[in-house]
Amino acid sequence: MRVPSSSDQGVGDRPTPVMLPSPPVGARDGRPGVSGITREALASWCTAAGEVAWRERQVSDAIWSGRATTFEDIPQLPAALRARLTASFRVDTLAETMVRSSDGGLTEKALHRLDDGRTIESVLMRYPARGGRRERATLCISSQAGCAVGCPFCATGELGFWRDLDTAEIVDQARFWRRHLMAEGQRVTNIVFMGMGEPLLNTDAVVAAAEALSDTQRFGLGARHITISTSGVVTGIDRLIALRPQFTLAVSLHAARPALRQLLVPLERRWPATEVVAAATTYADVTGRRITYEMVMIAGINDTAIDAEAAADLLKGRLAHVNLIPMNPVAHTPWEPSPPARIEAFANVLRRVGLETTVRRNRGVDIGAACGQLAAELAGAPTPAAVARRQQLLVDRSAAALLDAAAEDVAPGAVAAR
Ligand code: SAH
Ligand code: SF4
Repeated sequence: MRVPSSSDQGVGDRPTPVMLPSPPVGARDGRPGVSGITREALASWCTAAGEVAWRERQVSDAIWSGRATTFEDIPQLPAALRARLTASFRVDTLAETMVRSSDGGLTEKALHRLDDGRTIESVLMRYPARGGRRERATLCISSQAGCAVGCPFCATGELGFWRDLDTAEIVDQARFWRRHLMAEGQRVTNIVFMGMGEPLLNTDAVVAAAEALSDTQRFGLGARHITISTSGVVTGIDRLIALRPQFTLAVSLHAARPALRQLLVPLERRWPATEVVAAATTYADVTGRRITYEMVMIAGINDTAIDAEAAADLLKGRLAHVNLIPMNPVAHTPWEPSPPARIEAFANVLRRVGLETTVRRNRGVDIGAACGQLAAELAGAPTPAAVARRQQLLVDRSAAALLDAAAEDVAPGAVAAR
């Protein structure tokens, strides 16, 4: 399948999501994923099926522990109930999964095929025990198939938007890795919503999934070990604030200067960084949780001393941790990751104003572990001419954005007035 490339449509300011053609597959399985419903709903379903409500507990235990891959694997249930469950629910919404490994097995990436033929990605990153810190296994999961936001450095943004994932499709990624790690006696210790998609443009399913993942009787991971990352959907942050959860909130900032951020995160036009940071600060106030700010470092684009000062001005004094991540090179961009010395200099500007700043290592570059890269690969390469057109477009747009950003610097009132 050759997917329409953003070079055919312009970048950065797509007014509507790019809808990709449906792959040629059969009808979708109409049965909902059992992991996507609440325990209360499952208990009610059991009662309506003429069973005692506590059967729910037996089903949930078997499903969430990873022991059961079909309802027939729960022998303590009456045969008739197993048959009714099978007729009503799927145990797993991921039809097929392919796993690739890199970094000597420390990074593993799964490409999951859904029942409508869409593909989504999840990545497991293992961090061996070091300096008194226990071994960790961080899982990065997808919230949508594709993404409508269209950040130009992101392979998912390049793909466009297919559809929202439902709750079961989100949590089944975590259940897949639980089973995968169980064989080694390991477990998932952290989950980040940093795979494909913008979680806060699919807030209902994402919140339900995060609740299932943090429920001690379901996936059972502490809420503080779950991070929801957003490119800056203020209405979504407001919804989280109302729920007062203990999840960690990560904000993809990438640039503090408006003209540059408009290029890198097109949502800046709708919700400027100042508003996003204000909403995130309220989240920190209400929950007591420190906000993580993510900045993908792109050589010569957003890594200058002026950018570092602008980020320091925006974030100083806030309950914040900044992660600087060298851009994972993606084929359709002309951009390169910033050199380590540049990133270190950037980090030092932030540290000087008291912001805790970590320089992250890029994991799994050789297996395309940046979000959406593998799905993009599978979708088929655009023609070299289309790639060249898109790269030129990004060169032109970034030159214009840098000029606009420079103009903002000489007229700081323009920024203050936003
Ligand atoms: N849509 C959400 C969550 C998914 S993207 C968001 O943007 O926050 C998760 C993270 O991956 C974001 O911080 C994003 O900027 C980063 N990312 C995307 N493409 C990347 C690339 N090529 N190199 C490094 N990080 C990338
Ligand atoms: Fe979407 Fe996040 Fe990629 Fe931007 S970085 S296109 S918001 S998935």
